[in-house]
Amino acid sequence: MQSKKDVVIIGGGIIGMSCAVQLSRRGANVVVIEKGKIGHGCSFGNAGWMTPCFAMPLPLPGMLLKSIRWLLNPDGPVYVKPVPSPLLLRWLLGFLLSMNRKQADAAIEALVELSKVSLEEYRKLNEKYPDSFGYAQKGLLMVGQSTEGVRSAVEEMNWVSKYGVPGKELSVSEIRAQEPSLTGPLAGGVYFPNEAHCEPLAMVQTLRKEATSLGVKVIEDCSMLGALLMGGRVQSIRTTHGPMTAEFYVLATGSWSTQLSKNFKLNVPILGGKGYSMQIDPLEPQPSHPIMLVEKKVAITPHRDFLRIAGTLELVNQDFSISNRRVRAILNGAREFLPIAESVTESSVQPSLWRGLRPCTPDGVPMIGFCRNSKNLVLACGHQMLGLQSGMGTGRLVGDLMEGKEPWLKTEVFNPNRF
Ligand SMILES: Cc1cc2nc3c(=O)[nH]c(=O)nc-3n(C[C@H](O)[C@H](O)[C@H](O)COP(=O)(O)OP(=O)(O)OC[C@H]3O[C@@H](n4cnc5c(N)ncnc54)[C@H](O)[C@@H]3O)c2cc1C
Repeated sequence: MQSKKDVVIIGGGIIGMSCAVQLSRRGANVVVIEKGKIGHGCSFGNAGWMTPCFAMPLPLPGMLLKSIRWLLNPDGPVYVKPVPSPLLLRWLLGFLLSMNRKQADAAIEALVELSKVSLEEYRKLNEKYPDSFGYAQKGLLMVGQSTEGVRSAVEEMNWVSKYGVPGKELSVSEIRAQEPSLTGPLAGGVYFPNEAHCEPLAMVQTLRKEATSLGVKVIEDCSMLGALLMGGRVQSIRTTHGPMTAEFYVLATGSWSTQLSKNFKLNVPILGGKGYSMQIDPLEPQPSHPIMLVEKKVAITPHRDFLRIAGTLELVNQDFSISNRRVRAILNGAREFLPIAESVTESSVQPSLWRGLRPCTPDGVPMIGFCRNSKNLVLACGHQMLGLQSGMGTGRLVGDLMEGKEPWLKTEVFNPNRF
């Protein structure tokens, strides 16, 4: 950076820590404040996928009928509880209006780019800190039980291949040869060879290590409470550790951003996409790739000592309650494909059961960039299902914007002032 900038980053998840690393590499003086422990928000127990092939926004063309079905089926992979709420109505309207090809194409192009850059950064991080965050690049399988499911997987493959993500359609026998753990009925699938996976909390902790080695100060158990705005700028923020003043501020508070943005006189329409994950003992045979079970929207991630199963998306506003019904639906969905013992139930997985709120914008695209009404405030939130896989790319983009440099990718889709 031309001059050494002071930056306070609010939120210590994958996005906040990625911004901290990227900004401090450019010479900024960075402080990260986190209301709890670093990486214990939505970045804690996600599926750990670093998969440019899934650089998809939530709303896609042709989803209208599907989304109406979601409203009606509490056991479906995606659920929206129909409650009277102005935020939900506004969100759903934005979601419906975003289901068009033009918007989806622009979003996918940008999200693939952000994910590819991030993947390369994670690969380098793994070289620097070997075996610290369970990084493995074994590709990813998407498998379907129905011809409709396989068709949608192939459509996604064709879509991302336009932006340089290679994939290959596989027959059932090819899938079974490559992944013998898939014992349930199958109709076909797709293989993406370049995708990687990791342990998400360990990844954030590794970024923390990198950040502190670069001089970043991390303050845990420190909440932002308010902000002082004057002359179109943020003058200071109020925290549980007293006031803090900096030249720039980055709001990286995931699903908490809707509420916190009000302190900056912003109206950020982010809802939580609640999802669950759980760990079970390794299977016999243990899957050797991450696997997406298409119809169930369940993500399987193999690790040396356990198997992580993650899934469902229920649109909520700061509701962290656990629904055993939905946990059971995830387990039963996975059991249709994999040899998971009947003794594995929603009760037996309790010790490892985790839920997180994916920060979801109505158009499924993160908000990254300077705010119109506070010239020294950058938003970096709303990363929906792909915050881990696009974290370091987001940090790089924030770094470019703060340096006043022309970013390496088209940034219009990320405009934080678009809502
Ligand atoms: C089941 C599931 C599976 C997923 N799988 C994947 C996957 O495989 N790959 C992928 O890329 N993404 C995945 N995701 C999505 C990913 O987890 C999120 O996109 C990502 O964690 C968002 O990161 P974040 O840093 O924006 O938010 P968070 O990790 O939630 O971080 C925000 C932080 O802000 C802090 N904060 C809030 N309020 C304040 C305050 N007042 N003051 C200070 N700090 C505050 C919070 O404590 C929190 O730590 C998954 C999500 C779920 C739920």
